[in-house]
Amino acid sequence: MTPAEIKALVRTVPDFPAPGILFRDITTLIAHGPGLSATLDHLADAARDRGAEAIAGLEARGFIFGAMVAARLGLGFVPLRKPGKLPVDVIGVDYALEYGTARLELDPTLIDQGERVVVVDDLIATGGTALAGADLLRRAGATVDHALFVIDLPELGGGEALRAAGVELWALMAFE
Ligand code: IMP
Repeated sequence: MTPAEIKALVRTVPDFPAPGILFRDITTLIAHGPGLSATLDHLADAARDRGAEAIAGLEARGFIFGAMVAARLGLGFVPLRKPGKLPVDVIGVDYALEYGTARLELDPTLIDQGERVVVVDDLIATGGTALAGADLLRRAGATVDHALFVIDLPELGGGEALRAAGVELWALMAFE
């Protein structure tokens, strides 16, 4: 399937989670077998082309795509988790969301020093979440040069924010 055919499988839900927001919902895409498989083909090609040695995914939808991409490539998967979930000592980062703040945590012992880790998430908006993940991975010793997304919302500037931090964006599709 082409990216345009896959894009047609994404459901757009108006006024979620707040009035005026158009939510791009990937559950209709992942419920479609050929669409899911084609999405993983594209993501796995992009990760392989970028020399991924491990894949990191952002909780929760980044786990769906990231873990499957890792498995397709025979690589390990590293979860970047919401707070309080990991049973060991963690490093954490607080970051700003459009409304409020959030926190991500990582078990740094999962990272080999200098390991080329590629970040995967379902969607990039402002880039705050992906940047927080890249920051944590780098603090743990990873080399983080690339982040992959199913969906980019380019008007929200995430690509530029990532680039300014030395992380190149790749996305399967964009919604203007
Ligand atoms: P950012 O930190 O502003 O780039 O927001 C990206 C994060 O918010 C990702 O983890 C997404 O899963 C989530 N997100 C923001 N907007 C949407 C949307 O329209 N659909 C699905 N997820 C979204």
